[in-house]
Amino acid sequence: MRISVDRERCIGAGMCALLAPAIFDQDYDDGRVRLLDPRPQQDHSALREALDACPSGALHLDES
Ligand code: SF4
Repeated sequence: MRISVDRERCIGAGMCALLAPAIFDQDYDDGRVRLLDPRPQQDHSALREALDACPSGALHLDES
C-alpha cells in the first residue's frame, strides 16, 4: 500500500489532516497537504475516511 498526494490539486480543505493526522498534515505556509507517512501500516479506517472526504481528488492510494 502506498499513498501519494498531488499538491497542485489540493485546495487546502484540511479534511485529510483532520481525519488521519498520523498520515497527513497541512503545510504551515500554504495550507496544502503534506504527506507524513506514504506507507502506513495501520490506521486504515481513518485513511479510507480521509480519501473519501478529500474534495479535490488530491489523494491517491495504490494498494499493490
Ligand atoms: S483533504 Fe484534499 S484538498 Fe483537503 S488538504 Fe487534504 S488533500 Fe488537500
